[in-house]
Amino acid sequence: MSRKNRPVQDDVAQQSSLSRRRLIQAAGVSTLAGIAGLATTGAALPGSFSAPLSRPRTGGTTLVLLGTAGGPTLYSGRAGVASAVVVGDAFYLVDLGHGALGRAADAGLSTSTAPSARPLTGLAGVFLTHMHSDHLAEYASLIINGMWNGITDGAHPVPIYGPGDRGGLPPVLGNRPDPVVIAADEPTAGTVRMTERISEAFAADLNERLRGSGGVSPLAAFAPHDITLPAGVEAPVDHAPMPRIRPFAVHEDSRVRVTATLVEHSPVFPSFAFRFDTDQGSVTFSGDTAPSENLIELAQGTDVLVHEVMDRQWAEARFPEPRTPAAEATLRHLLESHTTIEDVGGVAESAGAGTLVLNHLAPGDNSISRWRQAGRGFSGRLVVGKDLDEIEVGR
Ligand SMILES: [Zn+2]
Ligand SMILES: [Zn+2]
Repeated sequence: MSRKNRPVQDDVAQQSSLSRRRLIQAAGVSTLAGIAGLATTGAALPGSFSAPLSRPRTGGTTLVLLGTAGGPTLYSGRAGVASAVVVGDAFYLVDLGHGALGRAADAGLSTSTAPSARPLTGLAGVFLTHMHSDHLAEYASLIINGMWNGITDGAHPVPIYGPGDRGGLPPVLGNRPDPVVIAADEPTAGTVRMTERISEAFAADLNERLRGSGGVSPLAAFAPHDITLPAGVEAPVDHAPMPRIRPFAVHEDSRVRVTATLVEHSPVFPSFAFRFDTDQGSVTFSGDTAPSENLIELAQGTDVLVHEVMDRQWAEARFPEPRTPAAEATLRHLLESHTTIEDVGGVAESAGAGTLVLNHLAPGDNSISRWRQAGRGFSGRLVVGKDLDEIEVGR
């Protein structure tokens, strides 16, 4: 094991001991998570084969980090970026990076005690920030496996909200030759078409199961929506800044009101941040973004800001000097579309957030002490996110 990897491994060891404590508590002793404002670590031991624990019905709002690694690189101890907001007897998912559904089973998100309950029983909505694989890899698994894991009511499909088709390919960065175009007839499909295509890609499996075992088709189990942008908003040309817009409503039910804004993740368009307001408080997800005025407006006064973060030293070391024009363009893209350790505290301070939770950590194997430097410039509480951390929201 490299020296560089040790902090994460240490963290996982600590997580396991905390998880054991949580298992003991779940057997009848009160949980740490019940203390407002305390971050604890989630339910089941990674690698255990125990049945999913059902969650006590607290009636409160809890943020659960399912995956905290940024980018498509695989890391031991951190799944791809994904989070859950548990509100009373339901929960909502924000992004679904690689490994996220396994973490959802570990976390025991469902509150149902019915014998038929499965890990996804109680899923009330899915929100996708943008069309990058580190936020979507496990979305395909949700669509093809959700029906066997608690999504069984075809009369009340689970709503899914994500980007629509951006309407055209982004420019090629640097002086690279034009690359091959995947699915040239529809190369920038949005959430609705992606969901249809996933079902089509797994047609042999889905048709076999529906004929052999019955059940609900993914086309009935889920209701995907392409998020409608405010009138007049289009993709910026040539890396111009994202237009300033006011937060706009995406979803509302009896438990949550979800609003969104556009964030700075050029050339990705659209790239959303989401804010969840509940009776207990609010939690805001930055998605992938450089420091963003739109995000700061969306997150004003939020109880918990879950913000992406990148280590500039790591990014620059990936592209050592002298750099080719292509390498220079890629590095500039990285730095202009993400938020550094040096900047994220100031964003949280400007938003007036109570707690800043770092996730989408890039790289996923950095030292915890390096991430803790993100607290500079922020007067609230800093949490360096780990998979299965739980943070109570509001009162
Ligand atoms: Zn990402
Ligand atoms: Zn991204």
